[in-house]
Amino acid sequence: MQLRTHFAETFGRAPEGVWSAPGRVNLIGEHTDYNDGLALPIALPQRTYAAAARRDDDRLRVRSVQTVEVVEVALDDIGPGTPGGWAAYAAGVPWALREAGYAVGGADVILDGRVPLGSGLSSSAALECAVGAALSDLYGLGLLADDANRRRLVEVCRRAENDIAGAPTGGMDQSASLLATAGHALLLDCRDGTTEQVPFPIDEAELTLLVIDTRAEHALVDGQYAARRTSCERAAAALGVPSLREIEPADLTTAATRLGAEGHVEGESSEVLARRVRHVVTEIARVREAVAVMRAGDWVELGRLFTASHASLRTDFEVSCPELDLVTAAAESAGALGARMTGGGFGGSAIALVPKELVERVTELLKRLAIDAGFPEPATFAVYPGPGAGRDD
Ligand code: ADP
Ligand code: MG
Repeated sequence: MQLRTHFAETFGRAPEGVWSAPGRVNLIGEHTDYNDGLALPIALPQRTYAAAARRDDDRLRVRSVQTVEVVEVALDDIGPGTPGGWAAYAAGVPWALREAGYAVGGADVILDGRVPLGSGLSSSAALECAVGAALSDLYGLGLLADDANRRRLVEVCRRAENDIAGAPTGGMDQSASLLATAGHALLLDCRDGTTEQVPFPIDEAELTLLVIDTRAEHALVDGQYAARRTSCERAAAALGVPSLREIEPADLTTAATRLGAEGHVEGESSEVLARRVRHVVTEIARVREAVAVMRAGDWVELGRLFTASHASLRTDFEVSCPELDLVTAAAESAGALGARMTGGGFGGSAIALVPKELVERVTELLKRLAIDAGFPEPATFAVYPGPGAGRDD
């Protein structure tokens, strides 16, 4: 059903407009955002759409095609835990706008998320950024006008996710959704928030970027994400730096020795902590290399970096899982230039850089091996760098 019709049937009037924001997939630079590091996401062609209209009573009513129920809340009542569930991602946005000093009132909103939910492709940021785009335009806040304003909206949407939805994520997802542009990857420096557009002419290169959604669900996800964050913070503190970004690859041996001298840092063995540090530091270096090889059009080398990133996430950071290891290895054995898990890990999605003529072979093999291993059949789809958030209609 058309989103405008859906809005009219739910709220008994016409929306004032339709806005949308993309999900993202990170090419490389995983678990680096909360370490002040570098990441390299693209905006996906898959987007979340929001039809919206103002209300004059400072209330938010929101419904999603994916969840059906209408959630209603007074803007003054929004806070951590209120409303609960999925609606927190939407309600967090007007809350965070107000916290940042923007005069925003109530709204009716219908959402339609075309980004697969919970697959590591950032349907949550797509939802927040679509709502943010709508509220910015409806209330004349100008937060889509240019990159400087879009950065403000990134912070707002990130606070919505951190403080109201209670997910302690870095700002990569919202940055990709609001700042990425079609045909480019977004080099994101999480230390100072600066960005650079890196051309990614995947079609011209006769390549396909395949997203492989393993459909694996592991209960560990949230706890392990928080645990990795804490490990990185503890390691940085033990090494006397504000964040792991300050450690260079050449310093890794010294850093490991220093962590060893500390013995156990709050219950974690220094050996484990040194591996966590090594992942973050080498991964940041790989992002720099990836940008250089993309600018040179060296796709074979980009694939090699994907594979090296996966190995580091699997063995040093320990956030992969058997399903992700299987599909990445299978993609490579069928001719992909490289493959890696993407997103937080423990399930979710992987990406593979595949010569166009081999896509079918790669897809068939990884599905067959996943089924043979007793895993869910992975869903695969080709993606390309799409545009950032904006008004559609
Ligand atoms: P990801 O962002 O990788 O898709 P998250 O766990 O961060 O995974 O976010 C998924 C959650 O976001 C869903 O469980 C749901 O609560 C919320 N969400 C995202 N998109 C929608 C949508 N279109 N409708 C309702 N809830 C949504
Ligand atoms: Mg998310």
